[in-house]
Amino acid sequence: MLCPKCSSLDVKVLETRAGKVASTRRRRECQSCGHRFSTIEEVLHEDLTVVKSDDSRECFDRTKLAMSLRRAISKRPIDAEQINALLTDTLRRIESEFDDELPSRAIADAVMHGLRTVDSIAWLRYASFYEDFTQFSRFAEEILYLGGERAGENSGG
Ligand SMILES: [Zn+2]
Repeated sequence: MLCPKCSSLDVKVLETRAGKVASTRRRRECQSCGHRFSTIEEVLHEDLTVVKSDDSRECFDRTKLAMSLRRAISKRPIDAEQINALLTDTLRRIESEFDDELPSRAIADAVMHGLRTVDSIAWLRYASFYEDFTQFSRFAEEILYLGGERAGENSGG
């Protein structure tokens, strides 16, 4: 690590603490000029591979995960901040269990684990996206249907 002020290599780490999103913050001090600065180390998700149920593989795509989550959450009272927190929490949960290959089922499980505590309708919707849940989805659809009907009554009255 070079000092951004004098380019000296003699930089000491003063403090290390965990950042918000699976990152590490370090407070540093240049031993040559005394300049103090902070750095952040982040885990990159680019190397992650998703292993699907048919054993095919694809690169992990956070955007894709976010989109499926938004689809489940659509029209539910959940804000962007909660979605982000959910994504971060999900990634952290998966990363603590797997190295570079993530079974798609494990991702779905982690997302659902998080969604369940946030919104049960969104949770059921997400569950119904997954083919493993074919039997379950009929039940989910029924619940969604009932939920929709109730919402209709509310807006009508
Ligand atoms: Zn310096």
